[in-house]
Amino acid sequence: MKVVKFGGSSLANGEQFDKVINIVTSDDDRKVIVTSAPGKRFDGDIKVTDLLIKYANLVLENKDYQDVYNKIVDRYQEISNYYKLSSDTIDKIKAKLTDLATSNYKDDEHLMAAFKAHGEFLNAITLADVLNSKGIKAKFLDPKEIGFLVGGEPNNADVLPETYANLAKIKFDDSKIVFPGFFGYSKDGDIFTFSRGGSDITGAILSRGFNADLYENFTDVDAIYVANNHIVKNPEAIKKMSYREMRELSYAGFSVFQDEAIIPAVEGQVPVNVKNTNDPQKPGTLIVPSQFLFNPANPITGIASSDRFSALYIHRYLLNKEVGFTLKLLQIFYKYGISYEHMPSGIDDLTVIFDKSKLDSETIKNLCNDVKKALNPDYIEWIDDYAIIMVVGEGLAHTVDTVSKIIDSLTEKNIAIDMINQGASRISIMIGTQVKDAKDAVRDIYDTFFN
Ligand code: ASP
Repeated sequence: MKVVKFGGSSLANGEQFDKVINIVTSDDDRKVIVTSAPGKRFDGDIKVTDLLIKYANLVLENKDYQDVYNKIVDRYQEISNYYKLSSDTIDKIKAKLTDLATSNYKDDEHLMAAFKAHGEFLNAITLADVLNSKGIKAKFLDPKEIGFLVGGEPNNADVLPETYANLAKIKFDDSKIVFPGFFGYSKDGDIFTFSRGGSDITGAILSRGFNADLYENFTDVDAIYVANNHIVKNPEAIKKMSYREMRELSYAGFSVFQDEAIIPAVEGQVPVNVKNTNDPQKPGTLIVPSQFLFNPANPITGIASSDRFSALYIHRYLLNKEVGFTLKLLQIFYKYGISYEHMPSGIDDLTVIFDKSKLDSETIKNLCNDVKKALNPDYIEWIDDYAIIMVVGEGLAHTVDTVSKIIDSLTEKNIAIDMINQGASRISIMIGTQVKDAKDAVRDIYDTFFN
């Protein structure tokens, strides 16, 4: 059995729905369909999720929302007209959208989550109605009824273990199951959404819960590429990669998945196939457990880069001999509730790398002052201009010359390396550079190993 998830652009209008229907009916194993909200139909179009956020904000501000309400209805109306559905479907949708504005919520966060979730909720209802209207048996599954339970925060949910037990109880018949992505219910019965892009997480949870043979994730690209195609021209597609390669690359900037999105599939050891709704014959990229990857052809699978980092550089003579230095430093981070990303160190030097988006300038100032007071460093610098390039491959563990090749190629192009660290996982090499050099570095490394 396969769980198939479709992204927003795959379900943006009637023509895209046709492709989805062809895909799900061409394989009986494609039993469970996870929907996203209707996405962009063209450049400059607005995703339904973003319209719903606007709708929520207008309700919160007590402002007139009729215009945005109509825009949302129009998106579903367009699909409904395309298939000449009876008015029942659009009536259901209008009623649910109207209810949103008049229901009671615990607070603004709960309200926002409920609004946001309706993009996928209403699209799943629509798709189930479309399938049935074409004589393809399909059942909409309501996350509330089946006990798709989540905890965490209203707009940043985590799945609860009970969900897996509840999913295991579901019996399959000859109908396709249509399930809305992106949200679940708290134990109090409130809607909580995952973080943005979270329909992928729903697909991964269902794959694990139903013990699927494959999780097919349909999007609008042919495959995951070795490097970002805005940086490298026509990069090679990755045919097969391991879960942990995917995780490291998403972390450092690959945008196909957020880095934690497929964790439930990993826990259930369900292979993930990223495919293109617009060209479903193409093999896409298969993401599998590491033990299925013997002898990769190239030591490197992917090269990612991200400039969302900042670094704190500390120099202190004889740092290596000082007991408790790092402990004191970590206590300061703890005091400010900050987690760090990496901490490469030398004899007298230590660099701590942070995710910039989690810090504000006030915190940085206070943190640096505390470090000066508590640790009395000889030199301390906050480096905002910091990019990380992650070179990832299961094959790295079996080769000896990869690092030297990377260093040679960057030296030749006069790119200064601020930091290099072969990760503890042995499948990644992390390189810190200035932001201005990051793209060139990615291109050089790509050329060295793939051209
Ligand atoms: N519709 C949601 C979003 O735009 C979730 C998703 O597309 O996966 O973030």
